[in-house]
Amino acid sequence: MANDKENEVICLRGGTVMTFDDEDRVFENGEIRICGGEIIYVGPSSLDKSSDDDTVIDQTGRLIIPGLINAHTHSYSSLLKGTVERDPLDLYMLSIIATGSAMSPREIEVAASLDAVSMLLTGVTGVIDHYSERPALSGDGLKAVRRGFERVGIRATIATMFADKPYIDTIPINRETVPQEILDRYAAQPVPDAAEYFAIMEQAVAMNSADSPTRVILGVDGPQRCSDELIEMTGDFQRRHHCGLHTHMLETKTQAVMADRKGPGFVRRMLEAGIIDEKSSLVHFIWADDDDIAAAREGGVTVIHCPASNLMLGAGLSPVLRLRDAGIPVAFGTDGSNCGPPSLFETMRMGCYLMRLTDPDFEKWPDAPEVLRSAYRSGSRAMGWNEKTGVLKNGARADVVSLDQGGHWHSPMGDLKRHLLHYENGSSVSDVWVDGMQVVKNKEITALDLDGLLSEAQDIVLRRRDMVPAKAMEAIESQYPAFRNMILETLKDGFGIERRVTLN
Ligand SMILES: [Zn+2]
Repeated sequence: MANDKENEVICLRGGTVMTFDDEDRVFENGEIRICGGEIIYVGPSSLDKSSDDDTVIDQTGRLIIPGLINAHTHSYSSLLKGTVERDPLDLYMLSIIATGSAMSPREIEVAASLDAVSMLLTGVTGVIDHYSERPALSGDGLKAVRRGFERVGIRATIATMFADKPYIDTIPINRETVPQEILDRYAAQPVPDAAEYFAIMEQAVAMNSADSPTRVILGVDGPQRCSDELIEMTGDFQRRHHCGLHTHMLETKTQAVMADRKGPGFVRRMLEAGIIDEKSSLVHFIWADDDDIAAAREGGVTVIHCPASNLMLGAGLSPVLRLRDAGIPVAFGTDGSNCGPPSLFETMRMGCYLMRLTDPDFEKWPDAPEVLRSAYRSGSRAMGWNEKTGVLKNGARADVVSLDQGGHWHSPMGDLKRHLLHYENGSSVSDVWVDGMQVVKNKEITALDLDGLLSEAQDIVLRRRDMVPAKAMEAIESQYPAFRNMILETLKDGFGIERRVTLN
């Protein structure tokens, strides 16, 4: 049976294995055995279990950990690195809406592969892609993004983004300050067809299978961007399929003030509409008040913390310690590659440090074990894999990362978890397996020619840059004063909660 891949046993032998299991076991000179994509043994290195047919890969001198989980990205943004500077979210959106045009399936595929490459090379084996397509989700686009992830070999949960309100109707802008020509243009935009979105999703979720590394869930956006009808249709779809939903929530104050102050808040509204449950994840969760937190806890949702993006766009500080105290699981996400570095190690580090500014009682600050455990457990939960990823134990899927311990970051080595959180940036990642397949070998992607991918991505970016019409840039400029005024006035407005800091 030695040639039968299904029954082949891959044995990672030697090195220090950190399991992140319930007992938090660590094995120096450890061993992991993998068969059919599943972990069948984790423990001390054991020659007794060997067979001559095993593929043994020496891990002496390595640190072996479960693959990290990036619980929020937007794959298209891998083509937009270096395009954002000093822009709060609303200005960023203004620019994306004005200059972004539909991407071809090939462009979508290249963007997804490039995003996956950045993640795998820095130790991320599982990702939630909040997949955004313009003008709206298409069957071909969804196939392309899936192909982009699958050809590189990352585990992906694809949450398909959808909203049906024009952006200008989702923010507290004074319409009198926006040129009439621009308002006319917003009004003339075709409304995305929700029925078409759900028809594509019916087919997509029917193809989800328990053992496929790629799956598709809902990504309908925050309630301020959705019509009442869309919210109703989303609740109906959830009741029938219970497939999971991933969405932005209360990222900026300009979003939060759009909630009806007399009625239920956004989170409670989603809960009452049957949209969110324990399979749902809410991203950012910054401008959340006590009832938003209570509703999130009642719904059993996971919150995704994106500290690098929140800092880069100046969105605010998420009340993560309050979420933890309420028993809400918190995972970490990088957000799009244009809003911060795509390294989850750096993301977790930033998140950990920011939490230290929101509570003076240092006994409440999370330490390295808590941050790492939260990232693994809650990330896996948000992806829909629960205890099957983010842990090295029998029966888990074999998503495994092997790091060099020899570099200057880790010499001399102190506490292992503190090293991972406070020093590592992903550059020590040497080998990676996803679902038992080796996808990174000696710091190189195994499935494709990286130089070819990078050069195709560069060509796409140059071609798309040339396609941006001059009138798109003029539209941005003509709306800029109204947007700037809206952002500054909203931040001044008393709201009852504060998520930014003022230094006295
Ligand atoms: Zn996002």
